[in-house]
Amino acid sequence: MTRAYNFAAGPAALPEPVLKQAQAELLNWGERGLSVMEVSHRGPEFMAVAEQAETDFRALLDISDEYAVLFLHGGASMQFSAIPMNLAPTGGEVDYVCTGHWSKKAIHEARKFADVQIAATNEPECNYIPPLKEWHLNERAAYLHYTPNETIQGVEFHWIPEVATPLVADMSSTLLSRPLPVDRFAVIYAGAQKNIGLAGLAVVIVRKDLLGKARAQTPALLDWAVMAESGSMQNTPPTFAWYLTGLVLQWIRSEGGLVEMERRNKRKADKLYTFIEDSSFYRTPVAAKCRSCMNIPFILADADLDKVFLEKTQQQGLLNLKGHRSVGGMRASLYNAVSEQAVDALIAFMQDFEATQG
Ligand SMILES: *Cc1c(COP(=O)(O)O)cnc(C)c1O
Repeated sequence: MTRAYNFAAGPAALPEPVLKQAQAELLNWGERGLSVMEVSHRGPEFMAVAEQAETDFRALLDISDEYAVLFLHGGASMQFSAIPMNLAPTGGEVDYVCTGHWSKKAIHEARKFADVQIAATNEPECNYIPPLKEWHLNERAAYLHYTPNETIQGVEFHWIPEVATPLVADMSSTLLSRPLPVDRFAVIYAGAQKNIGLAGLAVVIVRKDLLGKARAQTPALLDWAVMAESGSMQNTPPTFAWYLTGLVLQWIRSEGGLVEMERRNKRKADKLYTFIEDSSFYRTPVAAKCRSCMNIPFILADADLDKVFLEKTQQQGLLNLKGHRSVGGMRASLYNAVSEQAVDALIAFMQDFEATQG
């Protein structure tokens, strides 16, 4: 059977060479007669995997020694709690920018631990990015948190906020899709299941001078200093997810790194946005200046056709195009592992659908 074109928002498409390598190594990893899942995380074989993954990750993003890189449990959402616990005193003031679904989740969780102030919001439409000059920044805030790419609404910052407080970014759906000046941030974190690997794993990049300030009640597994000290091995880490991320990182490097990922991702997104713009049948609700390069929501002129659209795409092996239930319509996620052929196939289908149903 051939592999379908998978436009899922997350867990999302993985590069085929990565899946093939994982498959080839599943029963007999490097002639050891067992799999990577069946060895001690503290043994030399797995330690080599863990270290290589960190080396490749640092190389791709050009991360300096001023930052620790952590491979943690619990996905991005666990970090929603870890962030205030590590960076703010109990009840301390923190700034959040709200631009959509994931910002709101982060805010909801942070409110349990800190005095959250909303510096800016794009509610209720959540379809644009409020300009920095309209933000109400609190100079007492321990940090400012924002979501550079809102995976569900498809709104993306194409700029980095210039603020005096430490900048914390949920980059779950954009990290590794293009080069990034890491040194502009205090903390960057991401769930792995978009561009980095498997669900359950989160990668955290944290400036080392911010470590060691977690409040006393912080669980060890959420305390970045503890996790940095133990090489992310305070307990048994998600070893298979870590290994698989290692394969994804090697794949990105072998394909030309983040400059090449950015070139491909721009081409793919431009193609789909241009097609949607030129059509009178499809429409994207997001303001032109802040359209996401990764997640492209679109609406059909007649919502009664949504069901047929989804049935037909499914039949043709164009999968997971249904928009998030909170937004409706369609969404195509075009992560690194989604090929330009996939985008071409989607556009060809959309053209045909418009001609026959529109
Ligand atoms: C997917 C996603 C999350 C949630 O990730 P989990 O690993 O499920 O916790 C958080 N933020 C953003 C921006 C996401 O895209």
